Amino acid sequence: SARIVSGIQPTGIPHIGNYLGSLRQWTELQNSIPSNSSSQCFFFVADLHALTVPQVPQDFYQRRMDTLAILLSIGIDPQRSTLFFQSDVPYHTELNWLMGCHTPMGQLNRMTQWKSKLQLHEMDAVTFLNTNLASSGKFNLGLFSYPVLQAADILLYGATHIPVGKDQSQHIELTRTIARKINSTFKKELFIIPDIILNSSSSIMALKQPNKKMSKSDQNSKNYILLTDSEQDIRKKIAGAATDNIEGITYGDPNRPAINNLLNMTAAMTDSSPITIAEKFKHARHSEFKSSVADIMVGSITPFARSYQQWKANPSELQSIAENGAKKAMNQAFPFMKDFKNTFGLGP
Ligand code: ATP
Ligand code: MG
Repeated sequence: SARIVSGIQPTGIPHIGNYLGSLRQWTELQNSIPSNSSSQCFFFVADLHALTVPQVPQDFYQRRMDTLAILLSIGIDPQRSTLFFQSDVPYHTELNWLMGCHTPMGQLNRMTQWKSKLQLHEMDAVTFLNTNLASSGKFNLGLFSYPVLQAADILLYGATHIPVGKDQSQHIELTRTIARKINSTFKKELFIIPDIILNSSSSIMALKQPNKKMSKSDQNSKNYILLTDSEQDIRKKIAGAATDNIEGITYGDPNRPAINNLLNMTAAMTDSSPITIAEKFKHARHSEFKSSVADIMVGSITPFARSYQQWKANPSELQSIAENGAKKAMNQAFPFMKDFKNTFGLGP
């Protein structure tokens, strides 16, 4: 039976890129599991990961709750999936430590994410440690070692399948490497080696700057559509999206990144092909095409915003979902953790 594990950082309300590139797959996986099956999904708010960069405590608390509310709004069902906050299950950090003691620094050094967060390219950690930026505190230990925590998140639940975007596949490879190494060190199948379910759909690009990815941390809110945006905001943002000065609508021309992006997001949202949609709007004016894109976005995501407002109005219900989720997750992880610690000589 399959065990699917995935997390999202509470670093802001997800946008349609996060949804199409990752979250929608969560709900699809969850809903594809028949009720009599022993397969399971574990979805969590990766709050510990978000602490690798500075967070303001009150805001952070709110973001964590907002992220939980969004997951519920898009259809993650706490009856069908185990839905929880990572920080509510201390086994994650416990396993992180035990695994960290078996992870060569050199392997973490090869990860590209900490370098891109610090806007470094080819530098290695040892060289970097001697720079001023390294001493400024921005390069904290957590930012360097978080792939180990991510590996622990996955292996703790005996995940068989990990749905991820391309930007995370290097970390899942590392997870597999550490897991194999620990298995062979202790000559025991402690860890299941998980497979990657790679989401190969094209990235959604920024509306105003279609040469860069749509991203939550973008300074310009006109570049993204959040799952909680109002109908009016969605229409305004799409009307204001970049186009080009080529007449009509075609797909795939590298000189038309803006139109390609609008086609990609519409196709992804409606499970159709961008070529088919382009054909339909072949002779349309850009404004006509855009207003149809807006209709589709409004129709697809405003139900999430409505549901989100309802969850937000019910914080005690959110609390109780989080508590129950954490209990379920703890129960699932406990036997594994006990056996794992015994292997290390940490048993009773
Ligand atoms: P940040 O700017 O904070 O990095 P982000 O928008 O890039 O935020 P992440 O939290 O890094 O979002 O990513 C969450 C998930 O969404 C990942 O699985 C990632 O692959 C996916 N994702 C992020 N941006 C896009 C995008 N523009 N198109 C498709 N998928 C995306
Ligand atoms: Mg990102």
